[in-house]
Amino acid sequence: MREKCLFGPVQSRRLGRSLGINLTPFKTCSLDCAYCECGKTTHLTIERKEYIPVRDIVNELNAYSESGVFRSKPPSCMTFAGLGEPTLHSSFGVLAQYVKKTFPEQDLVLITNGTLFSLYPELYREVQPVDIILPSLDAGSGDIFQKIDRPHPSITLQSSIEGLIQLRQQYHGQIWLEIFIVEGINDNYSEIVLLRDAISRISPDRVQLNSLDRNPAEEWVAPTSPERLAEVADFLGAELLSKDCRNIQVDVLV
Ligand code: SF4
Repeated sequence: MREKCLFGPVQSRRLGRSLGINLTPFKTCSLDCAYCECGKTTHLTIERKEYIPVRDIVNELNAYSESGVFRSKPPSCMTFAGLGEPTLHSSFGVLAQYVKKTFPEQDLVLITNGTLFSLYPELYREVQPVDIILPSLDAGSGDIFQKIDRPHPSITLQSSIEGLIQLRQQYHGQIWLEIFIVEGINDNYSEIVLLRDAISRISPDRVQLNSLDRNPAEEWVAPTSPERLAEVADFLGAELLSKDCRNIQVDVLV
């Protein structure tokens, strides 16, 4: 039986009470990040398609909007995230419009790995209803991108960065760039200099650093010490994050 699309709400330090919307089956993604807290990617793909029927997602959204749970304690935001990459869903644009129309008081948020923008320029139009986009970028060099993010063969670090630069030019909502730090891998001086250059070209509204606090897909990924995180954050002009609502499953409410 298919898992439900809506999960949470989770309490997120940066987003407040966030109701998650998952648009893909486990674990469908264009990356296979070594730190992924959902586990290994079992379907590494760049194919956009209707992985979960739109009518099923809309039915769950409607049931939630009419529920006492929503009326008594509404979330502060509706967040596309979950068991894979949300922009792989071919009806992402339609769904973003529908969620914004159905939940006008909530911020609409997209947590994405950002790799598909350069491959599918229509995504720049599709994300327009979104209030805050949280793309990730974990590497400044191609070697480290391959080691940490393990992309689909059609994706390069350069294509991902160019996609985010274009996003900044074509989207006027908030962009909060997230960087996952793996101590000993992407926290050395040459790597963070390259990351700083990429950040400067992308020009996000905020930069936030994350590190491991749940089980990773690969055992060699270890938590980064708070001291090292603070040093890197200082160098990059970034904020520090801890637990948040990226790709986790919690109690389903509806
Ligand atoms: S962390 Fe996100 S982008 Fe990376 S494999 Fe997991 S779901 Fe995909």
